[in-house]
Amino acid sequence: MNSENIYRDFGICDEVFHYCQKIADSLKERFAQIDETAEYNQIKVLRAMQEAHVSEACMLETTGYGYNDIGRDTLEEVYARTFHTEDALVRSQIVCGTHALATALFGNTRPGDEIFSPVGLPYDTLQEVIGLRDSRGSLKEYGVSFHYVDLLPTGAFDYEGIRQGINERTRLVTIQRSRGYADRHTLSVPEIGELIRFIRGIKKDIIIMVDNCYGEFIERTEPTDVGADMIVGSLIKNPGGGIAPVGGYIAGTRECVENAAARLTAPGLLKEVGPSLGNSRLLYQGFFMGPHVAASAVKGAIFAANIYEGLGFDVTPNGTEPRDDIIQAITFHDPRGVISFSKGIQKAAPVDAFVTPEPAPMPGYSDQVIMAAGCFISGSSIELSCDGPLREPYTVYFQGGLTWYHSKFGVMMSLQQMVEDGFVKKEQLL
Ligand SMILES: *Cc1c(COP(=O)(O)O)cnc(C)c1O
Repeated sequence: MNSENIYRDFGICDEVFHYCQKIADSLKERFAQIDETAEYNQIKVLRAMQEAHVSEACMLETTGYGYNDIGRDTLEEVYARTFHTEDALVRSQIVCGTHALATALFGNTRPGDEIFSPVGLPYDTLQEVIGLRDSRGSLKEYGVSFHYVDLLPTGAFDYEGIRQGINERTRLVTIQRSRGYADRHTLSVPEIGELIRFIRGIKKDIIIMVDNCYGEFIERTEPTDVGADMIVGSLIKNPGGGIAPVGGYIAGTRECVENAAARLTAPGLLKEVGPSLGNSRLLYQGFFMGPHVAASAVKGAIFAANIYEGLGFDVTPNGTEPRDDIIQAITFHDPRGVISFSKGIQKAAPVDAFVTPEPAPMPGYSDQVIMAAGCFISGSSIELSCDGPLREPYTVYFQGGLTWYHSKFGVMMSLQQMVEDGFVKKEQLL
């Protein structure tokens, strides 16, 4: 049976199949470059594992306090070696990216300090951590203030605003690499390096944190290679490789990491406690798979951009721009577009393909959100998934796919759903 038939059995019509196949064929050269980056990062991770002496004993589990957990400690060394940092905190006790970021922020600020973002408002869930929206236990309640400066309309850094935004109370600068749900571009690592150099020129004694969510392994370098004091991320995104069942990481200077550890466990206990339970092997395996899985997700994002750009929808990044994360934004200017797209993605899932996603309120988000995710690991957005807050201009954020083939299939199913719902006419595909 040829490919066309196996897709047809899945309900993909000939017009959608041929349109998608033509675009996939046109991307081969581009994908070869992505494979080269994945190859580079694969060897980087492998080298870190060998140098850290990862052994069979590292895969065993500990319980209770988790004292002398060699698997946990060695994994943290692997992260530190890969990201070229002094230390790292990599724990399944860190529930998600927001928790990792909150731990880093609370651990590294004190009452009276100010946190500054030179790249606009941070990710939705962080706004409650900071206290931009009233929230129990926020940094604001502890006397830590926050200030931000937007990027210029051109997308460039507002250097003058940044200079004015940093004062004697500014203790920590937070830079979000990925665009998240914001209307701006994702920052490349060289851009982040440029920004860090500028900020250090204004104030030396300042902690620079990068929210690295969705950015890991997309480039050959990470923000810690260009001067960031710490990077923070989620293990159910890129560095978990779709295999880590839960977790977050903070990699950076010893001081930053220990400050965060004091917050995650307790002052005095720091990194000494925290059992790996049965998770070590999965965290190692996931990190090992990370570069390959991230590459698959980027290919899917580029494919989606070209599919929907070709049909006249606004896509960010566009079909040819370089990539610095795995997120693809597609704007429909109509809530029905977001819902239709999401339904198609859900129908492509290996788990829960039979359920229909609906918009609903979500903790940490101010608008209703629709999410499609039929994942092995609940909420894992390195797996094929999409989400969109139901607000103007009705943009859906698509990401993931543990394999390129699955990501491709998800995009095809989304287009098929659009056709069936009358959003896209078959004639447009010819
Ligand atoms: C995913 C993400 C986070 C954290 O979200 P969680 O759902 O808590 O893991 C923070 N910042 C950015 C840019 C993200 O993409």
